[in-house]
Amino acid sequence: MVFSRRYSGERFCSRCFLENIVEKVRYTISKYHLLKPFDKIAVAVSGGKDSLSLLKILAKIERDYPRASLVAITIDEGIPEYRDEAVKNAEEYVKKLGIPHHILSFKKLYGFTLTEVVEEGIVESLSLRPCTICGVLRRKALTIAAKEVGATVIATAHTLDDIVQTYILNIFRGDTRFTPIGIRREAEGVIPRVAPFRLIPEYEVVLYAYYSEIPFQTYVCPYTETSMRDPIRAFLIEYEERFPGSLFSALNSFERVFEKNFQESNMCVKCGDPTSRVICRACELEEMILEEMSH
Ligand code: SF4
Repeated sequence: MVFSRRYSGERFCSRCFLENIVEKVRYTISKYHLLKPFDKIAVAVSGGKDSLSLLKILAKIERDYPRASLVAITIDEGIPEYRDEAVKNAEEYVKKLGIPHHILSFKKLYGFTLTEVVEEGIVESLSLRPCTICGVLRRKALTIAAKEVGATVIATAHTLDDIVQTYILNIFRGDTRFTPIGIRREAEGVIPRVAPFRLIPEYEVVLYAYYSEIPFQTYVCPYTETSMRDPIRAFLIEYEERFPGSLFSALNSFERVFEKNFQESNMCVKCGDPTSRVICRACELEEMILEEMSH
């Protein structure tokens, strides 16, 4: 026995644990109707353990659906060492699985890297955090890359922890609009995003990666300390450790309570992506950064 799942009382050897995670992903896909048999699935592969685990599991599941196909997408924000290592891990692992790989960089798409934005003092002049710029622009880059490869759906490796963190972050930011994260929602001209790990806690994905011999990164992002998410992550890990099952309760509560607040999005007048505004945050940020850089 190598793993005891405290919130359910189940106990597993390493082989059964690996099989159980694949079954949990199958169950999640079926419960939320995340994927369709003819989908071209763009898997967001950062090169970290979570995304490589997701790619490995989806490659296994996809074999049962001959009309579906997978393509790995990596967004390179241009963070030396940290992202260089992740891109290398992604390239090697994707190649090993024999899956097509599309890499899109901030430099190519926006004309600047995240590190250039930080080093030129633009985060200070715009009073922004590197993670805010990174997250918003990476999301847009992922959509563009998925369109480039003709994907019908984007699968991300967001875990149960990530989703609960985001719901809490939205509340802390005063954002009471509700969009369920990682559940397929079809809208004209929009590639839906799904999160097949949405019912799997982060530590189980880490264990899956470990027993699957998926490469772990040695570099940590140099901007992670500025993240608003990290203190919430640390709190939730400690809380779940003391009170197993709390993350599932939180997910269910958020999704039940906020369902009433769901609002259909507008479309950004510049890029056509869903947004609550007229111009989406990504297009706004891109414009602000390019203007600052031109001074
Ligand atoms: Fe981007 Fe922040 Fe994550 Fe670094 S820690 S990769 S800056 S979101």
